Amino acid sequence: MNLKNYIALVEDYPKEGIKFRDITPLLANGKAFKKATDEIVEYAKEKKIDLVVGPEARGFIFGCPVSYALEVGFAPVRKPGKLPRETVEYEYDLEYGTNTLCMHNDSIKPGQRVLIVDDLLATGGTVEATIKIIEDLGGIVAGMAFLIELEDLNGRENLAGYDIMTLLKY
Ligand code: IMP
Repeated sequence: MNLKNYIALVEDYPKEGIKFRDITPLLANGKAFKKATDEIVEYAKEKKIDLVVGPEARGFIFGCPVSYALEVGFAPVRKPGKLPRETVEYEYDLEYGTNTLCMHNDSIKPGQRVLIVDDLLATGGTVEATIKIIEDLGGIVAGMAFLIELEDLNGRENLAGYDIMTLLKY
């Protein structure tokens, strides 16, 4: 089963010139979704993970079945105003403007080994912010897994020194 057959290419979304990789056909196919999840779980098993962390919103979709399979917890990374208790925040630059991500400040115990899971690695900005928050809270980033890597955007280079697994490269 070639998982690339379940990724739709949408030209000029969300704006002109962007080639958007749409993962919803993969989610809609039980066998494809299971295969993607199983491969991330296999990678994670070697890393002795204590906790899975996933950024809003597609990181929840892939992160939660991985945490279920590993029998470890899941902690969400969210945009400001979504988490009800005290948070740690990190602001980072986008092409136009900035973005802020947050986690509850008790969501990671010092020394915990964390796996970051998201659907897609592009520039690495989202995951870089996620790493900053995890490390701020005393967690260890033991690895990160993505369904898709957009190689032209050099996310991997921006994350030098971290262990990265991606299933589909474009
Ligand atoms: P980065 O921060 O530049 O690495 O972008 C990664 C984030 O943007 C991920 O959380 C993705 O969900 C989202 N993203 C960027 N490009 C795409 C795409 O082509 N398809 C789906 N999500 C995307």
